[in-house]
Amino acid sequence: MAKLTPMMQQYKEIKERYKDCILFFRLGDFYEMFFEDAEIASKQLEIALTARDCGLEERAPMCGVPYHAAHSYLAKLISRGYKVAICEQMEDPAQAKGLVKRDVVRVVTPGTVIDPDMLEAKKNNYLMCIYCRQTYFGIAVVDITTGEFFTTQITWGSSMRKLLDETARFMPSEIIANKEFVMKPEYKSFFEDYLGIRTSVLPDQVFDPAFCEQKILSLFEDNPLKDLELARCATGALLDYIESTQKVDLKHIESIQDYKIEQYMIIDSASRRNLEITETMREGKKKGALLWVLDKTTTAMGGRLLRRWLEQPLLDADEIQMRLDAVEELKDGFMVRNELMDLLRGVYDIERLAGKLVFGNVNARDLISLKLSLSKLPYIKEMVSGLKNGLNGTMAERLDLLEDIAGLIEKAIADDPPLSVKEGGIIKEGYDEEVNRLRKAATEGKNWIAELEARERARTGIKSLKIRYNDNFGYYIEVTKPNIPQVPDDYVRKQTLVNSERFTFDPLVELEKTILGAEKRVVQLEYELFCQVRDTVSVHVRRLKVTAHCIAELDALCSLAEVADRNNYVKPKVYEGGIIEIKEGRHPVVEKTLAENPFVPNDTWLDTEDNRISIITGPNMAGKSTYMRQVALMVLMAQAGSFVPAAYARIGMVDRIFTRVGASDDLASGQSTFMVEMSEMANILSNATPRSLLILDEIGRGTSTHDGLSIAWAVIEYINDRARLGTRTLFATHYHELTELEDRLHGIKNYCVSVRKRGDDIIFLRKITRGGADRSYGVEVAKLAGIPDAVIQRAKIILEELEEADINKNPRRKTAKPVEGQLDLFASSSLTKAEHEVLDELRSLDPSLLTPLDALNKLYNLQQKLK
Ligand code: ADP
Repeated sequence: MAKLTPMMQQYKEIKERYKDCILFFRLGDFYEMFFEDAEIASKQLEIALTARDCGLEERAPMCGVPYHAAHSYLAKLISRGYKVAICEQMEDPAQAKGLVKRDVVRVVTPGTVIDPDMLEAKKNNYLMCIYCRQTYFGIAVVDITTGEFFTTQITWGSSMRKLLDETARFMPSEIIANKEFVMKPEYKSFFEDYLGIRTSVLPDQVFDPAFCEQKILSLFEDNPLKDLELARCATGALLDYIESTQKVDLKHIESIQDYKIEQYMIIDSASRRNLEITETMREGKKKGALLWVLDKTTTAMGGRLLRRWLEQPLLDADEIQMRLDAVEELKDGFMVRNELMDLLRGVYDIERLAGKLVFGNVNARDLISLKLSLSKLPYIKEMVSGLKNGLNGTMAERLDLLEDIAGLIEKAIADDPPLSVKEGGIIKEGYDEEVNRLRKAATEGKNWIAELEARERARTGIKSLKIRYNDNFGYYIEVTKPNIPQVPDDYVRKQTLVNSERFTFDPLVELEKTILGAEKRVVQLEYELFCQVRDTVSVHVRRLKVTAHCIAELDALCSLAEVADRNNYVKPKVYEGGIIEIKEGRHPVVEKTLAENPFVPNDTWLDTEDNRISIITGPNMAGKSTYMRQVALMVLMAQAGSFVPAAYARIGMVDRIFTRVGASDDLASGQSTFMVEMSEMANILSNATPRSLLILDEIGRGTSTHDGLSIAWAVIEYINDRARLGTRTLFATHYHELTELEDRLHGIKNYCVSVRKRGDDIIFLRKITRGGADRSYGVEVAKLAGIPDAVIQRAKIILEELEEADINKNPRRKTAKPVEGQLDLFASSSLTKAEHEVLDELRSLDPSLLTPLDALNKLYNLQQKLK
């Protein structure tokens, strides 16, 4: 029976261990792929599919990529969702006895990419592990290029939603999980369809609590997750996955940060998209998103940190103040900021370099970049030691100059080393005596050759005699055909060519040995010395990371200061109270994109008392959503530590922002948009708190007028009710009937976006004013949009007829009594405004804090109000 060749057997054995990967099998200068892998790769990479004898009757399908160009092929496969196992030759084939030993040295997956060319510099590349047990989850997230590691667990409430929101915040490029997770009915629609992230399932044993405990203890002396079993299982499984794919000691993961979801402002996944924080909703582009305006960072580390600040605004007023104070100082200190930003421009991605050190794949050029970056630190330190406010105050103290590392690289590594670490030219002259001696032998050897050549020309009388070198023959003497008779007897012929012959002789052989020996040895020695330097630097990875973090922070703060200064932002007063007061607020992104007209600023006042809900009416295109979003964005910016586009801002901290905007966002395909809208609304109503901020745009639009209006009405009542929510809300609507609510319920105020009518046209004034809009101007807006005149004229006639028929006529009705047909709608809130106020007051009373006399007085006052 035919049997596989030994090499193919070796291939099969290794492939068996990496079944879910494409195996890059190193054969000399190529990575070869065989069998099914070859078929997939040849198609995906558009390379020729060939075949190779494998011992069996049929030849094995094969394709290959040159090892020095493998990285672009690898990137392509990873971006298409494949995993690639890289199998190297573990010994020098020239020295190997029999079959060369081979083994997999790394598995590359979307979440474990470390090659900077395959990564976005200003974005973390997260790998997430989800451990599901019944309805609860443990999450662990790592960026292996920087060593940042986070974990939490979700053990209450609508946990699947929370998991979705948390995943949307990190947007990992890869998820690994236990089987129970992918069996969840929501898994496919939430994770595969909506977020577009595929999950690989890991076997249950890697989630075993005892196994995970061991994994964590192998990295940290003390298990930080003792009381968090779900987080522990996710963390252990994730550590195991990284170890088994990366095969390195994970020393740059200096700590596991366990956090609570409620520690940061909660922004659910739909709101994140709606608010366009890091990318635009429709096209997923950075341009047009909030980050695009705020990111003036000059280092990749700063860019990543700023993104994270926006993705997780803070809830701790002191922490926010620390950032704001630092931004203020940098904003006011124009000169310092400018100089700092200039210095930061010269700083390389030290954080990812620390990661590369751990993975052992830095080259000499990386070390030079590190040295150049470190050379800026003393100047940076000098600049920040003059700063004293907020986060700036401790910066100088925290900034480790790493002089020992900079000094070592300066001494040891040549200033302009080659890319390869195995071809010499890396070690600086004077660092090592042996390198000097060997280099001298090599260079002087070349002089000796020149001398020998001159001597032999004189001895033989052949003027054209040359001593040359090539890789196959080494050094040789070349004599042209006409001069052959003059060749002396001690020359030994090596090769005959058409016009010349090549010889050698003893003195040349001796010289060659000295020169080549020295060259070879110096290359080897340089490599060894380089590795020593690299290993010495990598001992200090944690120190590098501390400095990297300081730099990132400084860069992010400078960026916020720069943007605040250039765009005229103001420092918000962030406090624990309930008022959101903004004067002359602008939308940070829209104001940048308006080409013709200037942005019209608007004021805002929301509080937890009389002004809980603003009902905003106005025609389409008037600027309602822009206004509502600008309020949400300013709150988010303030709590992230940024100045805001306004003349004045006081922000009573918000714990969650929810937005429900339009009907374009279809979370779960297959559901009607109305269903989506309602399920998101349900989520909001069950998760909002009295400290949240709701942005609701056109609620109830996806169904018939009466249904929609009733739902919108009831939603407002529910939100306004302090016993239930009492949440600060901006509510834009087309239903003018809703403006009735101001008179009926305490806590609601009407606003409209003003327009001016001129003949058949309308002019948008973009100004938010108190009161309800008088009408919709739908027909006028349709005209503006270019609907043919015939349709417009006909629409006007129909509108008039309808208004006469009184469906939605005169929405700002002054009568207290609802018109017929809407009676049932208003019945639920048939209480008078005074009655509502009394009820509200009663609800907010705490009898345990009242003396009997106070209670009597209160009772009397309440009764008076109802008279
Ligand atoms: P609506 O929600 O009322 O339909 P939008 O908020 O979408 O209207 O605004 C429509 C357009 O009007 C925006 O794209 C923007 O270009 C412009 N706009 C909105 N608000 C302002 C403003 N305050 N100043 C200037 N232009 C504005």
